[in-house]
Amino acid sequence: MNILFLGAPGSGKGTQSKNIEKKFNIPQISTGDLLRAETASESKMGQELKNIMSSGKFVSDDIVLKLVSKKITSSDCKNGFILDGFPRNLSQASSLDGLLSDQNLSIEYVFLIDVPADLIIKRCVGRITCNTCGKIENEYFSDYREGDKCGEGVFVKRADDNEETVSNRLKVYAEQTEPIIQFYEDKGVLHRIIGGEDGPQRLTDEIISIIKK
Ligand code: AMP
Repeated sequence: MNILFLGAPGSGKGTQSKNIEKKFNIPQISTGDLLRAETASESKMGQELKNIMSSGKFVSDDIVLKLVSKKITSSDCKNGFILDGFPRNLSQASSLDGLLSDQNLSIEYVFLIDVPADLIIKRCVGRITCNTCGKIENEYFSDYREGDKCGEGVFVKRADDNEETVSNRLKVYAEQTEPIIQFYEDKGVLHRIIGGEDGPQRLTDEIISIIKK
């Protein structure tokens, strides 16, 4: 089963991907996480990626495609995968089609998480992530704060989750990512999931019920 999550930054793609990963035991492939892992290296490429990502712009299609292709063809993904944050433009969407058809695969479900714009900024600016288990919390909506412990780890803020970069990321989303909604609508695999202030579990339940139908 191959699943793809679409939605603006802060819409909850990461949280939903993790919940669906746990439920169906298929791995999440987050291009943002893969790229952040690359930025940890002192290499020239690591530093270049860091600069691009902290401005809210997209990393080049070639780099992202290479990372995704390596993951999709690995044995971890033999029972399927959950794409989170990829594709992000039409060219990536058509490259993904090519990559999948080479392997006789396709995307069965695309979930578009639709969250009102006023919530998105709070979701991003308040987001904190455990540096060990990846758990996501929000300073506006929970008692957790940056620096608090989470089991063995600590909650940290992403460098690109500040107001200026978030508004850039939203602009880039509207210009480059929104057109791929139609691309998947035309294939008949798109499901619109309306999010709001009522927490992630209701959305997860809705997604699971669509998959089980
Ligand atoms: P995310 O964690 O999905 O919000 O991604 C964080 C940042 O990583 C984005 O703002 C981009 O700079 C970069 N990025 C992640 N996925 C992609 C992608 N598919 N194409 C280009 N850049 C990406």
